[in-house]
Amino acid sequence: MDFRLTEEQEFFRRTIAETVQKMIVPRAEEIDESDEFPWDLWREFTKLGYLGLRYPPEYGGMGADKVTCMIFYEEITRGSVGFAQSVIMNMLMGTHFIYRFGTEEMKKRCLIPAIRGEKIATICFTEDQSGSDLASIRTTAVRDGDYWILNGTKQWITNGPICDFATVLATTDPSKGLKGLNFFLVEKGTPGFYPGQKIRKLGCRGAVTGELILDNVRIPKENLLGEEGKGVQQLQEILDEIRAMTGAMALGIARAAYEEALEFSRKRVAFGHPIGHYQLIRAKFADMATEMDAARLLVWRAAWMMDQGIPCTKEAIMAKMFATEVCQKVVDECTRIYGANGMALEYSPQRHFRDARFLLYGGGTHEVLRDYLGRLIIGKV
Ligand SMILES: Cc1cc2nc3c(=O)[nH]c(=O)nc-3n(C[C@H](O)[C@H](O)[C@H](O)COP(=O)(O)OP(=O)(O)OC[C@H]3O[C@@H](n4cnc5c(N)ncnc54)[C@H](O)[C@@H]3O)c2cc1C
Repeated sequence: MDFRLTEEQEFFRRTIAETVQKMIVPRAEEIDESDEFPWDLWREFTKLGYLGLRYPPEYGGMGADKVTCMIFYEEITRGSVGFAQSVIMNMLMGTHFIYRFGTEEMKKRCLIPAIRGEKIATICFTEDQSGSDLASIRTTAVRDGDYWILNGTKQWITNGPICDFATVLATTDPSKGLKGLNFFLVEKGTPGFYPGQKIRKLGCRGAVTGELILDNVRIPKENLLGEEGKGVQQLQEILDEIRAMTGAMALGIARAAYEEALEFSRKRVAFGHPIGHYQLIRAKFADMATEMDAARLLVWRAAWMMDQGIPCTKEAIMAKMFATEVCQKVVDECTRIYGANGMALEYSPQRHFRDARFLLYGGGTHEVLRDYLGRLIIGKV
């Protein structure tokens, strides 16, 4: 057993950490405050090629292993969770189904420009009456000769207001529940496909989120991604990766809060000493450092298992839940360490505190995941 990163992974970690520190960290506060998508930063950052990290070189990607991808997700989120969310949507959920099940023509039209940052991608599951319970999705896709006609409204869509194309989950047969679900490629400019209301969020601001409306949207039959009725099966393929990624993002937020609080505890003086001098403050750092390390080991273990081709559904769920709960605890402790300044909008702890909430839902809520993990452990009884 070897817990060290490889030389390449370590080099990658240092490089991306420096890039984030220089390019993204100075913009984090402004992105949060404005809640606007930072187009200039997007153009500058996407030139560096990271959006292709998990895709093969023939599409302009880097073909990186999953551990390297987790390092990337943690580091970019440490910079700005809002920006990270948009970037990760383009490089993972928003493009995966086109890469796996799209035609070469679609890959040229959507995947390659998305990897270059020239097009913005998203994925649409959620609706007003359907979140965790995908079987209750109401968006329909009805076959009409060589076309599919899509109708429905998607909510909470990251990049929704600015996307160039979307992978949309719709039912082709509501009576079949999960087995009736399928993914479709829908591109901007298709009549009847347009953004609705933007959502004003507590955290993860700057990743613009909103409704996407499908009103009699007619798309070619080829835009059904993969075999009909296999949508949920296709989704299973990347759920482990999405969950481990969410854990890595949680670590990014936790680390940003922790590192800033560490600086603060060395400078802020109370009763004649920097507050880091006091045992109860030191204990907070001891616990936070231990728990973040444990969380990172879980995230990296799940990623390593993916790289080895070892099934890791349980391990990915554990990593997601544990890292996200550690993140909640760390951002809470960090606002306490800042005292009243932990509530001041001029300081960063409140931003991390708000941002951390997002990860409780992305990749599955903890109520649903815990129940599922328990079932996997106990088996059928
Ligand atoms: C910032 C942000 C960005 C997002 N981006 C996207 C996106 O790009 N695309 C997209 O499709 N969606 C997106 N989502 C939506 C996200 O995927 C959903 O929030 C998630 O699937 C949970 O669904 P829900 O919020 O409707 O909650 P629900 O599923 O309605 O759950 C409500 C509550 O009930 C609990 N619950 C539900 N079922 C059970 C059960 N069986 N047992 C016990 N408790 C249960 C849940 O845990 C939760 O506490 C985003 C969400 C956020 C916050």
